Amino acid sequence: MSSLRDLYQEVIFDHNRNPRNRGSLEQANRVAEGVNPLCGDQLKLYMLVDDEGVIRDVAFQGQGCAISTASASIMTETLKGKTEEEAHRCFEQFHAMVTGEGDGADMGKLEVLAGVRQYPTRVKCATLAWHTAEAALRQKHERVTTE
Ligand code: ZN
Repeated sequence: MSSLRDLYQEVIFDHNRNPRNRGSLEQANRVAEGVNPLCGDQLKLYMLVDDEGVIRDVAFQGQGCAISTASASIMTETLKGKTEEEAHRCFEQFHAMVTGEGDGADMGKLEVLAGVRQYPTRVKCATLAWHTAEAALRQKHERVTTE
């Protein structure tokens, strides 16, 4: 089992060192920000959702610990191409997994974060990106702008 744990840590390390989909998204029509004050994690999430409710593109910016960054990175890869409904189900499964209510089976790459359930303070780091994605998806289909 320790080799599996090592593999998980390697994946988290890799995503933290080289986050996927990092940056802003010019054409985003959903934007949300999230913070985890307990750890100091900050995240801004951009999504492009088409008229059929399919998430076409996702990107994130922010600063945080390795777990929050890796989780955001893996999440963006996971959500691309999913419908809002599928994304919501994914969030529920992920949340269940990291809080120990689900086993994380069939969660693919997300399974690498199952280990945080042993560290309750880390659960918020792992779920920050997902809570932010949920907030973004609850928004209406309109461009969010500060102008
Ligand atoms: Zn954190």
